[in-house]
Amino acid sequence: MNPANFDFHCHSVVSDGLLAPAVVGRRAAANGVDFWALTDHDTLGGLGEAREAAADAGMNFVTGVEISIEWQGKPIHIVGLGFDPAHPLLSGGLDDLRRGRVDRARRMGDAFAAIGIPGVFEGAQRFAGNPDLISRAHFARYLVSIGIAADVPGVFQHYLTPGKPGYVDHRWATLEEAVTWITAGGGVAVVAHPGRYKMSGAEMRHFLDEFKDIGGQGIEVTCGSHSPDHVLHFARLARHYAFHASRGSDFHGPDESYVDLGRLPQLPQDLKPVWRLVR
Ligand code: AMP
Ligand code: MN
Ligand code: MN
Ligand code: MN
Repeated sequence: MNPANFDFHCHSVVSDGLLAPAVVGRRAAANGVDFWALTDHDTLGGLGEAREAAADAGMNFVTGVEISIEWQGKPIHIVGLGFDPAHPLLSGGLDDLRRGRVDRARRMGDAFAAIGIPGVFEGAQRFAGNPDLISRAHFARYLVSIGIAADVPGVFQHYLTPGKPGYVDHRWATLEEAVTWITAGGGVAVVAHPGRYKMSGAEMRHFLDEFKDIGGQGIEVTCGSHSPDHVLHFARLARHYAFHASRGSDFHGPDESYVDLGRLPQLPQDLKPVWRLVR
């Protein structure tokens, strides 16, 4: 039997993606996805529309979210899957995170004003599909539109990353909060794109030890930003920690993503796929 084509990491306009939740769902189904989760940043606002689109397309739907945390000063993302979206601990925690995003966005606007680029907060807001969720991606798209850089990665490189003039520090959720919010609602917590973090091997093991101790169960092994070497490396860690392995494109939009929905390599065969835990 062919392995399931599951894609448990992608975004819609409800966070910083470019397509509506239903359009993302139809695209996933058209690409042959069997199990699908929409994992917008810090919001559950797209899940109702996504669930309906999946049902219409005859595709299995799993609730999802990508929570922004900070661990030992580093920004990290934790994906939650298969939780009850009505659980107040998760929805309340995410409400606070989104309020923090607005505050950070205003400070980013001030930082751009200080280098002679005014009106950036208001400009970024116009690029946000959901006024309740503002992301650095919206700043990047606005700044490209006014010719500050040629493309989105260029804006990140020159303005929006630590040490650059448009970057401001921010307090996100803690690892413990994110995992607790997800598991309280019956969900599974998964480390998103571990290959993207600037951590030594020892730091990564320390992080995964803590993640497992507080109830984390999964890790993305195959994902849009992982090289073949990353896949081998994180497959080894998944085995070592007895984690379930996840697979996700991190699709944001047709011209802004490394890979399309469902179009990424299968997991190494011996790993336990996370869809078995959440279907
Ligand atoms: P935020 O959560 O508001 O800090 O924004 C992070 C988002 O910006 C990520 O989810 C990506 O969608 C996008 N992003 C981060 N780094 C880059 C980069 N180097 N190039 C393009 N997009 C990026
Ligand atoms: Mn994003
Ligand atoms: Mn992420
Ligand atoms: Mn993502």
